Amino acid sequence: MHYQSFHPPVRTLMGPGPSDVSPRVLQAMARPTLGHLDPAFLHLMDEIRTLLQYAFSTGNELTMPVSAPGSAGMEACFVNLVEPGDKVIVCRNGVFGDRLRANVERIGGTAVMVDDDWGEAVDPAKVEAALRQHPDAAVVAFVHAETSTGALSDAATLTNLAHDHDCLVIMDAVTSLGGVPLLVDAWGVDAVYAGTQKCLSCTPGLSPVTFNSRAVERIRKRNSPIQSWFLDMNLVMGYWGGGAKRAYHHTAPINALYGLHESLLMLHEEKLENAWARHERHHRALKAGLESMGLAYIGTEGRRLPHLNAVAIPQGIDEARVRRRLLREYGIEIGAGLGELAGKVWRIGLMGTSCNARNVYVFLGALEAILGEMGAQVEAGRALAAARRQLEES
Ligand SMILES: *Cc1c(COP(=O)(O)O)cnc(C)c1O
Repeated sequence: MHYQSFHPPVRTLMGPGPSDVSPRVLQAMARPTLGHLDPAFLHLMDEIRTLLQYAFSTGNELTMPVSAPGSAGMEACFVNLVEPGDKVIVCRNGVFGDRLRANVERIGGTAVMVDDDWGEAVDPAKVEAALRQHPDAAVVAFVHAETSTGALSDAATLTNLAHDHDCLVIMDAVTSLGGVPLLVDAWGVDAVYAGTQKCLSCTPGLSPVTFNSRAVERIRKRNSPIQSWFLDMNLVMGYWGGGAKRAYHHTAPINALYGLHESLLMLHEEKLENAWARHERHHRALKAGLESMGLAYIGTEGRRLPHLNAVAIPQGIDEARVRRRLLREYGIEIGAGLGELAGKVWRIGLMGTSCNARNVYVFLGALEAILGEMGAQVEAGRALAAARRQLEES
């Protein structure tokens, strides 16, 4: 057997994440590794916290990246805030909502499910009905941006409802961070977890989390010990929160954190509002192009994510073949449907660094060519012109 270094093929990542990682972030990650208690590294950790507070629009002291992917941030929120026997109202409008349920049940809690159609936002009226029916509920959990369907839920309204009924809120913001407005303090969301490989365009493998004082108090007043040693926030904070007295908890993923720092710095330079506007503007251009080809979005106007475009597969088109050709011939990756939507939609991401005019044009041109060759009724050049017109107007 002859082994060689791995050199990945050149790709354009336009799926549900990971998104294209900026060369700035990759270069940052290639810098020399420091010890995890080196004063220079501890200084970097402080900056990462401040930059994360900016990204989350929060002043929460307990704000840090969990050293593992978004799913670990999810688990961190649940194991710290839910105890065996707790009742949790779980909103499910896609794949990730069902993972919230799985977390609650594995802890030994009871998940009260509030279901909405896949592609639609969480319906606050149903959540309110569940809260009235279950006055003993302790937590409401929902996904802000459902990456499996492209639906955006109204986090402020859902959080207010939960607080009116004395519940804490756990929110999945894995895909929303850096892509759409996410105002943790203004909305009062108690515990939030996010991801680095979606709109932050950092590499996968870290999960920024933030807990407000209500959530910290709930953790302090627990009756039972936190079942996970690694994700126990009381212990993690000895390292991330300890100021000058930081102590070893686990070896931080040093170089990955260099990358996160650089991606947060890029967001800070661009400014949150501009990043949100960029995602919206390119979404409109992509949408104009896709619709001019006769493709239809699922879900409801005004409740869709700009950075995750879920469109129905046209009649008679072999959807997997289109994705294979996009990858093989054009180096473009898009996402397939998940769960209930498998085989029914394509999920086209415009996240972080991947969200730019060139990608919109190249993707539309490639899709148009492939669909035309497969016998679909598409008029050459029309999608590009529609996208260009939309971008020039905005
Ligand atoms: C991607 C994603 C996750 C999981 O993140 P991983 O980094 O893959 O573990 C969770 N929730 C949502 C909404 C996501 O899009």
